[in-house]
Amino acid sequence: MKTLIIDVGHGGNDPGATGFQFKEKDWNLKMSLYQYNRLKELSANVALTRSSDETLSATARTNKIKSKYDYCISNHFNAFNGEARGIETIHSIHSIGKLAIDIADALHDATKLPLRRVFNRRNSAGKDWYFMHRLTGSTQTVIIEYGFIDHAKDVAFYRSDENFIKAAEAVIKVLCVYLGVKYQTPKATLYRVQVGAFQSKENANNLVYQLKKLGYDPFITV
Ligand SMILES: [Zn+2]
Repeated sequence: MKTLIIDVGHGGNDPGATGFQFKEKDWNLKMSLYQYNRLKELSANVALTRSSDETLSATARTNKIKSKYDYCISNHFNAFNGEARGIETIHSIHSIGKLAIDIADALHDATKLPLRRVFNRRNSAGKDWYFMHRLTGSTQTVIIEYGFIDHAKDVAFYRSDENFIKAAEAVIKVLCVYLGVKYQTPKATLYRVQVGAFQSKENANNLVYQLKKLGYDPFITV
């Protein structure tokens, strides 16, 4: 089985991008913790660079990743001028970018947010522009920008937990293929409502009778 580390972008005294009173570091953590817990549930071999609002230098961060895992996704939200929006993924100049393309396509399909671009960037020394690619060794790293935290439509989308999970699941599904893990949809949570507790069986039966008259389907447990 292949291994994965989820890098939670920014944190602590580095909030990352901001918009509409939201901080990127918080959304990155929310996204990453969800994906981490789900992948654990699916028995994947997965780790996190941070699990709280912690400051991590580029070196401290990449030391946790460098050549220790097969794959790394680095979770981010973008900001620009309030008009730019949509999904971006970024891969190393040394990669053909298949994982980055697969993630971008899956996110676009699941969220219907615009797919801006999948790209890589070289610095003047001919190395990777982004330290997440330059300093992570043999670990294949993809930076994911889920949307723009300063764009009204992208923010409206991600403010909904249901949509947030849709995006998270789309990425998990792709990662499962690369990790060799069987993907399963999340188990539905059932919220049970209790309407009464009685010492007398007759009183319990009486409430069941009344609830049935109201069209409910009650049952008695002890
Ligand atoms: Zn960021």
